[in-house]
Amino acid sequence: MTATLRLAVPNKGRLKDSSISRLKEAGLDFEQTDRALHAQVRNVDMELLFVRTEDIPEMIADNIAALGITGIDLLAENGGDLTVLAELGYGYCKLVAAVPRISKVEKLEDLAGLRIATSHPNATRTFFAERDIDVTVIALRGSVEVAPKLGLADAVVDLVSTGSTMMVNGLRPVDNLLSSQAVLATSPRSQAERGAELDRVVTALDAVTQGRKKRYLLLNAPATATETIAAVMPGMGAPTVTPLADASMVSIASIVDADSVWNLLPQLKACGGRDIVVLPVGQLIP
Ligand code: AMP
Repeated sequence: MTATLRLAVPNKGRLKDSSISRLKEAGLDFEQTDRALHAQVRNVDMELLFVRTEDIPEMIADNIAALGITGIDLLAENGGDLTVLAELGYGYCKLVAAVPRISKVEKLEDLAGLRIATSHPNATRTFFAERDIDVTVIALRGSVEVAPKLGLADAVVDLVSTGSTMMVNGLRPVDNLLSSQAVLATSPRSQAERGAELDRVVTALDAVTQGRKKRYLLLNAPATATETIAAVMPGMGAPTVTPLADASMVSIASIVDADSVWNLLPQLKACGGRDIVVLPVGQLIP
């Protein structure tokens, strides 16, 4: 008998809430309490391990979990030969090299010979070594952005999403080392041994990611407006057009980009559309 599939999930921090809600939206029925270290999924033979986001690459590499949700930045830092199975579309951030505003450094090469404080020492060392830029990396656990002020370093490599924390600390970005988001990751061993099970998790989570980018749009319109409305909301191929009991009217349904709904609604109204309903799409497999 194969062992229960174990999936490692962030137990706190920035990736926790989105990870839990995506797994639920994917159809997994489980309960997450703040103290529980693991949860048995009720409707699928799967166990969730709740651990620190930064420990997840190691748990996958050590085969404690067959797969896990973590950040691309943490895979770069600690991920060895792990594989990304799916990009999950949240936890977006960048690993950025930055210097005090008054620094003379303009580009990455100018950092040669300088001290860089970071909580991503492995990723930073690899990045600069690959470019033959000789830097001294100072590993810090937190408060990286204050290191230049304290005289600990000449520059920092840190995660940013908006960049405002860096600005507040008087830092100026020099360049991006990598772009990150939450991903589903696995090891070559789990991929070889449990590929079919992993595929099922990927399909379900990808369907959630795709679904969240879409809306189901439903409206009534005069039959004479069908072509105009179909041109405005072609959806995934062509919209579904259903005749109504009143022969002069039709019902039109389509899947549209969530981003387009704002502009679509007034256009549809102008074309004669009414009783317009916009619904979320739970999961979508294109
Ligand atoms: P945690 O330390 O548990 O809050 O998780 C940190 C992870 O969240 C990072 O490794 C990134 O993958 C992700 N993340 C997304 N945006 C940010 C940000 N602005 N700062 C730090 N981490 C971020």
